[in-house]
Amino acid sequence: MSLLSDCFKNIIAKSRAGSPWMVHLDCGSCNGCDIETWACLTPVYDLERFGIINAGNPKHADILLVTGTVNHRNRYVLENIYDQMSSPKVVVSIGSCANSGGIFKDCYNVLGGADKVIPVDIYVPGCPPKPESIIDGALEAVQKFKLNQEEK
Ligand code: SF4
Repeated sequence: MSLLSDCFKNIIAKSRAGSPWMVHLDCGSCNGCDIETWACLTPVYDLERFGIINAGNPKHADILLVTGTVNHRNRYVLENIYDQMSSPKVVVSIGSCANSGGIFKDCYNVLGGADKVIPVDIYVPGCPPKPESIIDGALEAVQKFKLNQEEK
């Protein structure tokens, strides 16, 4: 029984490392980072060639891509989406706004970066980052799943 359950766990871990699903949340700001993030999913940059699929549903996702500043209202949405994802999960913060609040950090309603609310694993710098940098961040997330699998 335990051997079978270990076998299932290995299959799930291997599948996750081979083809993690992602969900994207835009917390706000200028949408420049969102445009670059969505460009990664077009055939031009083709993020899917690495097995990463946009699930759109946090309950099915392994990777959370966050863009935009976190403020006092959207922090609850961010927390809610993060909590709905099953573990293990990786959070990738994309762009200056999601990393630190960016040019909006001194606004009265802004809390700062995504890491003020949830744990962030990977930071992609830029305003906005190029699609190549976003793909690098997503691949680093895949690498984390692979390392996690090897440690087991
Ligand atoms: S980091 Fe720059 S491009 Fe991205 S949402 Fe903020 S202001 Fe816009």
